Amino acid sequence: METSSRRSFLKKAGITAAGLTLTTLCRAEQIEEEGEPLATRPITGRVIDAHLHADPESIGRCLSVMDDNYIRYGINIGVTGDRSFHEFVSAAKPHKDRIGTMYAFDWSLIKKDPDFFSKAPDMLTRAVEAGAIGLKSFKDLGLTARDRGGELVRVDDPRLFPIWQRAGELGIIVAFHTTDPKAFFEPWNPRNERWKELELRPNWSFADRGKYPPRDVILQQRNNVIRKFPGIKFHCCHVANNSEDIKTVSKWMDELPNLHVDFAARLGELGRHSAKDGLEFFTRHQDRIMFGTDRMFYAGGDIQGAGPRKHFTKEEDRWFYQVHWRYLQTRDKQFDHPTPIQGDWKIDAVGLDRTILDKVYWQNAYRLFRLERFGVA
Ligand SMILES: [Zn+2]
Repeated sequence: METSSRRSFLKKAGITAAGLTLTTLCRAEQIEEEGEPLATRPITGRVIDAHLHADPESIGRCLSVMDDNYIRYGINIGVTGDRSFHEFVSAAKPHKDRIGTMYAFDWSLIKKDPDFFSKAPDMLTRAVEAGAIGLKSFKDLGLTARDRGGELVRVDDPRLFPIWQRAGELGIIVAFHTTDPKAFFEPWNPRNERWKELELRPNWSFADRGKYPPRDVILQQRNNVIRKFPGIKFHCCHVANNSEDIKTVSKWMDELPNLHVDFAARLGELGRHSAKDGLEFFTRHQDRIMFGTDRMFYAGGDIQGAGPRKHFTKEEDRWFYQVHWRYLQTRDKQFDHPTPIQGDWKIDAVGLDRTILDKVYWQNAYRLFRLERFGVA
């Protein structure tokens, strides 16, 4: 590339030569040769979104937004209860190579159904036979789900072991969304950094210690399950629900080789860490981090990771995904994150190299979910 054309390209892309590393420069050159400025699209040309949500009525819209934004395959991260699950599976059947779904137990059955624990493993087998590509546990486990005696059910309750065991026998991944952001467990007042988000969703405050166990305790219960079943692959959503503290997550991942993460709706939190710490995290755990957005497609209105339900324009969606490409592919500093309701700060990008981008964008999810089974291209 000619020096002058390189300079004009960099200017166009808003990059100053002084702040540019050699790898970013090479990537900028590579993308410019293909005729597009940096970070308007994923450099890999294909992405798997390992964490989205959709209802049966919205599959068409979900696929068209995916098409517009280079998402080759989407993982619907859990439909709760047999009825809703089967409805989704039958609606998604014609699109097996584009979208898959995880089955989620309705944990309220622990209280309602005296035979739940003995029936549950076979319920899971039937869900997998019907097409479930994994098992998802939502955050009510450990936090609000109670047994018939009225006791909170711990994530590492031995009565649940046969369920995890069956998932292992079936060869499927087990996903956990356990607890929530740190701020949801802190006093709910205007000093809480997620004040705006809690205003929108007051039922997400778990600050009442008389009602809810501490966050760390529940996260440890989840880790106990991961430790107890080393043969099962676990997918811990939202950076193992601890994106505020990636050093601790990194220690967990060192200790537990079967712990994998997605960063759905946590790009804002990841980008709050220094670019150096972020890059170190992605580099060290490059085989176990999956791209995810938490983009939600519902008949009653969509959600971009977090925030209000609404119908998004093509431009708004393009911006949402492009912030993800920008974070992963450039070394830009102090730009807006994709989920503004989560907090009023800017993020620093990590600028991953091509090998790591391939893994994070699609290879890791492809391998973990064994997507070759569905002819995913
Ligand atoms: Zn989600």
